[in-house]
Amino acid sequence: MKVVLPDKSELELPDGATGLDAARAIGPKLAEQAVLVRTDGRVQDLRLPLEDGEPIQILTTRDKDDPDALFVLRHSAAHLLAEAVRRLYPGVKIAIGPPIENGFYYDFDFPEPIREEDLEKIEAEINRELKEGREWSRQEISREEARARFEQEGEPYKVELVDTAEGDISLYTQGDFTDLCRGPHLQNSKPIKAVKLTGLAGAYWRGDSTKPQLTRIYGTAFYSKEDLDAYLERLEEARKRDHRRIGNQLDLFHFDEHSPGSPLWHPKGMVIFNVLEDIRRRENARRGYLEVKTPLIYDKALWVTSGHWEKFRDNMFLIPLEHEQVYAIKPMNCPGHMLLFGSALRSYRDLPIRYAEAAPLHRNELAGALHGLTRVRYVTQDDAHIFCTEEQIPAELDACIDYLRFLMGLFGLEPRAEFSTRPDNKLGSDAEWDFAEGELEAALERNNIEYVLGAGEGSFYGPKIDLHITDVLGRSWQLGTIQLDRQMPARFGLTYVGPDNREHPVFVIHRALFGSFERFIGILIEHYAGAFPFWLAPVQVRVLPVGEQHRDGAETVALHLREAGYRVDVGEPSETIGKRIRSAELEKIPVVIVYGDRESEESLAIRSRGGEQETLSLVDLVAKLATL
Ligand SMILES: [Zn+2]
Ligand SMILES: [Zn+2]
Repeated sequence: MKVVLPDKSELELPDGATGLDAARAIGPKLAEQAVLVRTDGRVQDLRLPLEDGEPIQILTTRDKDDPDALFVLRHSAAHLLAEAVRRLYPGVKIAIGPPIENGFYYDFDFPEPIREEDLEKIEAEINRELKEGREWSRQEISREEARARFEQEGEPYKVELVDTAEGDISLYTQGDFTDLCRGPHLQNSKPIKAVKLTGLAGAYWRGDSTKPQLTRIYGTAFYSKEDLDAYLERLEEARKRDHRRIGNQLDLFHFDEHSPGSPLWHPKGMVIFNVLEDIRRRENARRGYLEVKTPLIYDKALWVTSGHWEKFRDNMFLIPLEHEQVYAIKPMNCPGHMLLFGSALRSYRDLPIRYAEAAPLHRNELAGALHGLTRVRYVTQDDAHIFCTEEQIPAELDACIDYLRFLMGLFGLEPRAEFSTRPDNKLGSDAEWDFAEGELEAALERNNIEYVLGAGEGSFYGPKIDLHITDVLGRSWQLGTIQLDRQMPARFGLTYVGPDNREHPVFVIHRALFGSFERFIGILIEHYAGAFPFWLAPVQVRVLPVGEQHRDGAETVALHLREAGYRVDVGEPSETIGKRIRSAELEKIPVVIVYGDRESEESLAIRSRGGEQETLSLVDLVAKLATL
């Protein structure tokens, strides 16, 4: 048999040769460093036979940043963790231990609960295993044998896994520890140069809250100590910028268990929200959008017409009312805007019509998916629907992209574009989708936007251009979206009368450019690490009277600045001035005025965020703030 190497050359091998055999045939060094075989995007254990004619790539310890190479390393580290825990805690039952993004975990059923402090001891045991060295071997056995083995070992979770496993059963053994596992695994533990246990959490067996609660131990592993150190440094930086932490620190919002996923906006957070809302209103007016307001709840019939009942019901909050009439809280504004458009006869002369509405929307996201402001159930989109003719599509798409660039430019954000095409659950014909996808693709090309293709990721009613941005934890979130749709208007029977006096189908562009206020603010908090630019800061200026006798003077300065249109507060002279300056710094307030004996409207001591100090008259200060 033969296989094809990445440089397209062919390698002759005896029949039944494994990945490791292939590595040996290329060279002993490669065989020693090999960790995994990749064939056509699929990964395979080195010990498994290759197929005749298939292209293969052998990953080695040098592919230390390759996600597949990291997966096999981390999954192998998870087995070392299980071995260590079994040795340290007799009577523990083991469940599952997969690799995950940035690391791995293993779930255990401990006879006695363990604590964070115990992780150190477990980590030391893993390091001892690494020092001794471990080799992995793979064995394929029958279901009955596997069952008997784990029953005898008193591992009920493994028995259940054997019973529900599909296909052949395989075991991996290192030292005196054997685990039920499909693999792949490393040849031995030499490539694992750094392991760190990162945390503990509760997790239900098979994610089912009616089943026993297990203890999940999280960890990570790397091909080098330096990579682990860099990762821990990134984690620390991410922790500092995490919008949930800063939101709490800066008193912007909080969440309450009575309404999971729905932020309670504090006054300071609401300031940021409203600054964005002002931008939205002002730009919408300038760009020919019409502000509207439509209902928050509609009956089932409306959702059936829009297609949401069929395609989106799982994400909707339903309200059963009397007489078996079911209503739902809107997850999107589109159907209301369709009703508005359909309320009058429309001529080609009226088009395009751009309806805008930033209504509160509700989406029943899974509790486990909720994440601070970036995944919520109560969501406010800067939404709009543009009703236009086929000929108007390109110009309207270009205008949306221009608007988007303007907004992102205000914040210095550089999101990535993704072009998402027809999903499996699409409405409408392939020909209609060909047209809509073609229009969006052409708009991307015209505007020189680089993008990645999200095949099958479009909305059920149309393809879309999405903007994505990565948060401090490396998670990617969608911000704005531009979608082209002929399905929903057709379902609502929406048309316009053309110059030929005939009715024509109308197109709709759904677009939200911030995406949602909630997520956008979450991303902004992390982007600025809470140090908002002056124009966005909840408190722009704080005046600190040094003592009680300076309070009137400080209040007068604050009043003048408020009248000039700035957001100003006056700090209570309750603590030492040094402490209050420090706390204004922690709150990341852009401008602080210290008002004491020497201060007057002619001479104010100004401290700017970042440490710069100067003395200005009130008039000069107002002039300076205007430039910010
Ligand atoms: Zn495994
Ligand atoms: Zn829409």
